[in-house]
Amino acid sequence: MANNARTILTLSKSTCRLLCLPPSAATNLRGPFSLSCPPPPNAITNLNSYSTRNGMPTSRFCPPFDTSFNGATFSSSTRTPSMSIDLQSHAFTRNPIRSKIPKPEHPLSAGPSFESLKTKLLGKTPLLSSPDFKILPFRKGWPLVSCIRGKGNDDSASGWDLGWISLADCKSLMALSGTQMTEDLLVYLGSSVEDDAVYWAVDFSGKDNLAEELGQKQLSFIELRTLMVGTNWSDSWAMGQLAVAGHGRALLDWHRTSRFCGHCGERTVPMEAGKQRECSNQSCKLRIFPRVDPVVIMLVIDQENDRALLSRQSRYVPRKWSCLAGFMEPGESMEEAVIRETLEETGIEVGEVVYHSSQPWPVGRRTMPCQLMVGFFAYAKSLDIKLDKAELEDAQWHNREDVKRALTLSEYEKTQRTAAAKVAQMCKGVQNRHSQSADFNTEDGGLASMFFPGPYTIAHQLISSWAYQDKGK
Ligand SMILES: [Zn+2]
Repeated sequence: MANNARTILTLSKSTCRLLCLPPSAATNLRGPFSLSCPPPPNAITNLNSYSTRNGMPTSRFCPPFDTSFNGATFSSSTRTPSMSIDLQSHAFTRNPIRSKIPKPEHPLSAGPSFESLKTKLLGKTPLLSSPDFKILPFRKGWPLVSCIRGKGNDDSASGWDLGWISLADCKSLMALSGTQMTEDLLVYLGSSVEDDAVYWAVDFSGKDNLAEELGQKQLSFIELRTLMVGTNWSDSWAMGQLAVAGHGRALLDWHRTSRFCGHCGERTVPMEAGKQRECSNQSCKLRIFPRVDPVVIMLVIDQENDRALLSRQSRYVPRKWSCLAGFMEPGESMEEAVIRETLEETGIEVGEVVYHSSQPWPVGRRTMPCQLMVGFFAYAKSLDIKLDKAELEDAQWHNREDVKRALTLSEYEKTQRTAAAKVAQMCKGVQNRHSQSADFNTEDGGLASMFFPGPYTIAHQLISSWAYQDKGK
């Protein structure tokens, strides 16, 4: 990992809140362990608005800071954030029911709660008082969602909540579709000691009659990308809900694509409350674990001319530009993957590679249940672009002012509100629940001549971090 003076960052007051640092941390820092992430002006500003909602934990992530702070600074030699501070507010991070993992012997941990679940399903009375079981159904990777009504009739003022159902309701719905409820159908998601609750995911794919049944209760399966675009990224509670949904989808998709042993071809069965699977062939018994596919994503920087390399794929909507990205190959480091992908796609040689942050991405290809986007700044050693047309439609250098202008003019909040209104309408059954695939393309960039993926993406965070970073290096 490179560690020279390029790892400069600016900690604004809002960034300090984002990182759960006191406002007195607001300064320019220089050092090997500084993570750079000043948000754009229209990004996260209110992480202390975490509020109590039904069915989910109520704890805060960040303590409230004195917002009257007015800009004092400190020396980096006396207070330097450590590498452990990695609280970027990327979508699908900060899962509240995984934030405090109980010890294995705790009744709310995966093992004991799975035993408790089995007892309940057998209709027996548990020996000890049993936690509340909350189950989140998914259908083809889409989580069940309910509508939170806003004040008045304004759809844009309302939000969404995960559609948790009880164990009894889950049993009834399964029976309606002709399936007997067994513990192996449930996958452990996490728990909340405060609420004495254990959370599970269940797959309702193929049970179309249940979608209609749930629709009558104003519960609807909604595409995860639509939820991602429509979630208010300044609402840490809502972002937590999105993280739970992303985790559930990733786990269920992995179970769906891992039903047979890659070694002997026999069926596999869930183990450890769905945290693993094991081959049912007694002479094989291969254990497999949830799959994560790492992807490097990099903003290539021309430091001398203060420009960043942005690219377009042919599938992008007009005017949309983003960072380069590519899957890692076996036997290479992340830094090597950054260098290789940049050279392959643009012909540009990269020297130094600096880690920025990472983001789970459970909304990629369904054959890959969860990608892990690992973000870097990559400093160019050569500047001539030789495009690989099979990979990219275009790639160009853009100066900092143009990037800042695009960030300022792009109407990300309007896009978010539009998607949120659509989610609310879907929950109420106003919109056709089966025609949501185009919703992600509500991205249009507003008035900007170019725009970038929304603030829910690590690409956006990389671009805005660079754009708002001090030039002094
Ligand atoms: Zn096997």
